[in-house]
Amino acid sequence: MPNFSHGSSHTGGRLTIDLDALQANYTHLAWMARPAKCAAVVKADAYGLAAHIIGPALERAGCKTFFVALAHEALRLRHVCPDATIYVFDGVYENSVDALIQTNITPVLNSLDQIELWARLGERKPCAVQIDTGMNRFGLTVDEAAIFSSIHRAQNLVNLKLILSHLACGSDPNHRMNAEQLKKFQHVRSLFPDIESSLANSAGTLMGGDFLCDWVRPGIAIYGGEAISTMANPMKPVVTLHARIGQIRHAKKGESVSYGASHVLTRDTKIATVIVGYADGYPRSGSGSGIPLRANGSAGAAGYIDGYRVPLLGRVTMDICMFDVTDVPDDVLAKGWVELIGKNITLDEAAKAAGTVGYELLTSLGSRYERSYISTES
Ligand SMILES: *Cc1c(COP(=O)(O)O)cnc(C)c1O
Repeated sequence: MPNFSHGSSHTGGRLTIDLDALQANYTHLAWMARPAKCAAVVKADAYGLAAHIIGPALERAGCKTFFVALAHEALRLRHVCPDATIYVFDGVYENSVDALIQTNITPVLNSLDQIELWARLGERKPCAVQIDTGMNRFGLTVDEAAIFSSIHRAQNLVNLKLILSHLACGSDPNHRMNAEQLKKFQHVRSLFPDIESSLANSAGTLMGGDFLCDWVRPGIAIYGGEAISTMANPMKPVVTLHARIGQIRHAKKGESVSYGASHVLTRDTKIATVIVGYADGYPRSGSGSGIPLRANGSAGAAGYIDGYRVPLLGRVTMDICMFDVTDVPDDVLAKGWVELIGKNITLDEAAKAAGTVGYELLTSLGSRYERSYISTES
């Protein structure tokens, strides 16, 4: 049990990020991907965990190639990872060409227009091209890829380093889309026989086999999240969120809790009021009761304190939520903290209780926490 006696009462929550677990997850994925190489996706500020800390930590674990979503994120990452290869999924626009060139950032070109732009202004710097094999989100269609490949063969338009595509249904390995996308991508790969390729996100990396291609690009699994919903999550938890208990209250059977008075107590109840709420990214849709939006019928989120699972009572409010701690002895409560996410309440369990996914919960965690990064590296 970690010692939180030094936990600050200036904040309501403590977010602890375990860099050893992060590095172990990367190492595990890189090992699973062999002989393919393993990049890391650090978009959205490394899924909310701070790219300027996560990027260098992954570099120390051997990662040399990163993907971000936006040019802005790439430029910030460049400050702390001066030698890394950095790809931008969002590609290039007239007003970002110069910045990308000056900082050696590699755009992932997503349309024939972006290819034309980079061919004209990119000074033959490296680029990647994304092919849409089934998401209908971003990238050349398979037909456009064929057109581009013949022009490219004739004119050697751009300095192409990588072709990539993205899986729509990796979280369900049995979904027919996976095989269909792989087949389309194999076809596109055959049009660019000398160019490295990448299809796998975290789920694709865990599926292995032909999904691995030359490069894998996991994100969520590095951060300990569940990539495949039909098997036990093999990754180590990276993020722990503890909420400070601000008050213990004693309420009577028949009284109600929180906004809307939607939770009516069915017994005399000891309540822990904890100082984390939806403004901290702890979702309101995880409320114990009274949220018509959540249709999945789950009872709502739970916390954990020293061996006791404690259900969330009533609605999550902006800064505060309440847990039923009737069964928890006072000396245990005196420790003062409730785990909302961690080894006992996994990221994905907390997310599911709120009708969402670990990705969204992670990237929502706000800026009000006291954050600490723990590591045994010297
Ligand atoms: C976000 C993203 C990834 C990483 O996906 P995970 O499921 O987090 O592993 C890989 N490729 C693309 C194009 C992405 O947008």
